[in-house]
Amino acid sequence: MPLLSLVVPFLNESEAAPHFAQFTTELEKIIKTRFGLDMETVFVDDGSRDTSIERFSMTMTGQWSIIELSRNFGKEMALFAGLEHAKGDYVLMIDADMQHPMSVCLAMIEEIITDDDLDVVYTIRDDRRAESLKKEVAGRAFYWLINFRQRFQMPENAGDFRIMRRNVVDALLTVRDRRRFNKGLYAWTGFRQKGLPYTPDARIGGATKWSKLSLLGLSLEGITSFSALPLRIVSAFGALTGLFGIFYGIKIIFEVFFYGTSVPGYPSLIVAITVLGGLNLALLGLLGEYVWVSIAESKNRPLYLIRKIHRSDNIDG
Ligand code: UDP
Ligand code: MG
Repeated sequence: MPLLSLVVPFLNESEAAPHFAQFTTELEKIIKTRFGLDMETVFVDDGSRDTSIERFSMTMTGQWSIIELSRNFGKEMALFAGLEHAKGDYVLMIDADMQHPMSVCLAMIEEIITDDDLDVVYTIRDDRRAESLKKEVAGRAFYWLINFRQRFQMPENAGDFRIMRRNVVDALLTVRDRRRFNKGLYAWTGFRQKGLPYTPDARIGGATKWSKLSLLGLSLEGITSFSALPLRIVSAFGALTGLFGIFYGIKIIFEVFFYGTSVPGYPSLIVAITVLGGLNLALLGLLGEYVWVSIAESKNRPLYLIRKIHRSDNIDG
């Protein structure tokens, strides 16, 4: 029987654990009868500080393992660790907090096993409309910037919740980026992908791990890992202001010689100095970001460290 691996990263999800365990038991039963699929669950404990590991181990049925990382490496890296340990012909990545509905999982599984031409089925959150205008505008700007004239396009609001065929998983595993911006990597790999819209459920217990600030950080990582557009915009702007300066200078010289005008303009001087000084500093910071990406990538550190692997009795290592 073909095997489906669930890859589930978690960080302090002890409250959700029993619910998730029940979810997997049900899912396994349904896909066995409906699609003739076997199932294993590969959890990745991303440095939880609560009793998540015990709670998952106690409540899970079927074949499962928990890859316990040595500390918090971030969801992107946790997913990578999970992919490295998943053995399935298909891999379904899903969160542990019960936000991803069963019906959507089943729809994705059905799509991919009935359509041989399909390598990936991803999901698109359609609840973003309810969010604030500010967030919507920020999101739009982000996708416009990162997708501008790229050979591969990142679909808006497509997340990690997706199912992939083995060939795509293997492709993703060859990418050793330390700064993993998953949305970008999924698009970068290409393959035949299809999106399904869905509305996430409310989270069971706990709180989201994404603050506004961490989202901003992630966006910046995404852009600096996938796009040189910000650098080009600043260069173009610099070139334009430079050009403007030259013409303005010519104009002043012209005026002094032909009309004998003295040179006024203390305010314009201050404006020019502060604007250009500010731009210079901003550009330095931006350059620093890009340099930092390349430093981080050039260190040959492992992507993550495992403290211990926990397994159900019926699974072979
Ligand atoms: N998560 C993780 N490492 C982190 C942050 C989150 O493994 O550093 C897990 C978390 O436990 C959950 C999933 O990633 O299973 C999604 O996180 P969250 O629910 O906070 O994100 P949201 O659903 O709000 O986008
Ligand atoms: Mg969540």
